[in-house]
Parts: sequence; C-alpha cells; structure tokens
Amino acid sequence: MTNLARVSPAHGRAEQRSKVTHFCTHCASLSNAPNGNAERPHRGRVCPDCALGVILSCSRATLDTEGAAFLVVTADLRITAASESAERLFRVPDGLYGRPLLSVMTSPDGIGDLARQVVRAASGARRPVTVEVDAAASRVPRGVTRARIGGCGSPPAALVVIDSAAG
Ligand SMILES: [Zn+2]
Repeated sequence: MTNLARVSPAHGRAEQRSKVTHFCTHCASLSNAPNGNAERPHRGRVCPDCALGVILSCSRATLDTEGAAFLVVTADLRITAASESAERLFRVPDGLYGRPLLSVMTSPDGIGDLARQVVRAASGARRPVTVEVDAAASRVPRGVTRARIGGCGSPPAALVVIDSAAG
C-alpha cells in the first residue's frame, strides 16, 4: 500500500490524466498518456505510427476519434497543423499549413465568435465548445457543420475538430 501510494499521482492528477489524450497532428492516431516519465511533456515527439506528425495532447472531450479531421490553430488564427483527414476535406492545393483559419472556415454565427473561441482555446482553455462552422474555400461543398474547439499543447494552441458526420 505504501508502494502504491508512492507511485500514485497526487490528488486529482490521475483523474486529470484519464481525461487527456495524445494525438498525432498528421494521421490523428490517438494514444493515452505515453509510457515513461509522465512529468515530461512530449514536446516535439514524432508520431511512431506515421513519422510525419508530432504528438500533442488535448482533452478527450475535444478529440476522441481516430483519424478525425482537425486543425491546430494558434492564437493569431494561423493554421500550424492539419490532420490528413482535414487536408482531404479542404483540398487546399498547397496544404493548410500556415494559412489563416478564416480563409478556410467561417461561421454562420459570425467569424468574430469563431475567432474568439479559437483565441480562448489557444490561451489555455481546454474544455471544448461547439460552434457551427462553414467552409470558406470554394472547393469544399458548402454546408454548415459543427466544430469542437478546445485547447491543446504544447506549445499552446487551439484544436479545431470538424464534425465528420456531415461529410
Ligand atoms: Zn501519426
């Protein structure tokens, strides 16, 4: 019992960890807290599955589906990563990386609200919110769908997970 107590995380940490998932920015494979030293964030760790993305973490409430279509967006509303599924969805010829979020996505509720939620998440709010979004790029069939926006890291950014039900 004393040994168990020693390796058990401090109060609340176990629960918190169970709500966190790690994901690859490219193939969107999900994993639980990786083995090894839990105290060290896996900053810059390359995905063992595809070797093309890096592993970030987010709340499981934001992302719980393997292979999901998502964008990683910084607080200045620039896309710094997009999953394979998102690239397929948006079909931007040169890829999504580095593009302004609002050049590929709008919201029927107003882009101000969309931008505000992204900034909020990129500032560290991990609990996701759901917003209605619409594709801004003409190649994408228009139609309102939903996106979940929650914080991810690190470094801190917003994870915009597009609801694939509509696609
Ligand atoms: Zn991967």
